Amino acid sequence: MRESRFEIPVFENTLEVSRYLGDVGNQEGNTVLFIGGVHGNETAGVGALNRVFEQLNQGDIDLTGRAVALIGNMEATRLGKRYVDKDLNRIWTREVLDDLHYDRLDNQHSEYHELREVYNELQTILAQTKGRLFVIDLHTTSSPTIPFIVTNKTNSAMEFTKRFPMPVVSGLMGFLDGTLLSYINDLGHVGLAYEAGQHKSPQSMIKHESFVWQCLYYAGVCKNLTDDFLQHHASILEEELVTRTNNFKLISRYKIKNGEAFEMNPGYANFQKIYKGEELAMNQDGPICSPYDGYVFMPLYQPLGDDGFFIIKPEAT
Ligand SMILES: [Zn+2]
Repeated sequence: MRESRFEIPVFENTLEVSRYLGDVGNQEGNTVLFIGGVHGNETAGVGALNRVFEQLNQGDIDLTGRAVALIGNMEATRLGKRYVDKDLNRIWTREVLDDLHYDRLDNQHSEYHELREVYNELQTILAQTKGRLFVIDLHTTSSPTIPFIVTNKTNSAMEFTKRFPMPVVSGLMGFLDGTLLSYINDLGHVGLAYEAGQHKSPQSMIKHESFVWQCLYYAGVCKNLTDDFLQHHASILEEELVTRTNNFKLISRYKIKNGEAFEMNPGYANFQKIYKGEELAMNQDGPICSPYDGYVFMPLYQPLGDDGFFIIKPEAT
């Protein structure tokens, strides 16, 4: 499977990619596994991983562990689409994984094939790792956003994510099921999704790169990065953030029904404050209003996907 290669556009450049974007270091220490392109139209993370691993491959940076980078959804990445048949970040459920174990998954189904390949790579990496495992899933969003992290509220995930100067959103259960990050956290490792910014913004790639370097440092895989280097990358993530260091919890999701003509009202930015009764979107029957005071989260401004928007609330820490 390492042989399949193709070219994709990543902002101004063309990259030749394969499932493995990089694999450096040793298995004695901790391992960080980065995954880009779980959604095929989100190439900023793939571009950033390519750049970081080019530097790691030069051998000037001391590695006390292992850093691996994979593309999640190869076929969707090749096509530049979020997914082909099913969202790869919604099928890491007990039910689908049982079907995988008993060989009952339809291999014609594009994302079941991708799931099987990523799952097998993950099991191999897990078996090889002598230290701790961190899985970092790199994403971008359809609307503009400050960088943020999504994770489960496990002690080890919260301990890791508090290092980063950005909001951490948790409370996925019942709202966002079958995510890769929840699968990883359920196994007892640290799993998170990081959203760097809007899909097409070149800044998203820069913000992915800075996040990746900091993950490598805080996961104890690149311990010898200089203070100047780390400070530079921290400042790239901090610059837009003033008060957005809260932890948030998902409290509501607007799920788009089959055949529903959902359209988000224009101009909603991620983390924008909203009020009970506010018109957030429209469908064929009229306006869709917020049932709560809170903050709008991941408003949908792209054709694919069935989560119209979420509502989050700050959580006491
Ligand atoms: Zn995504």
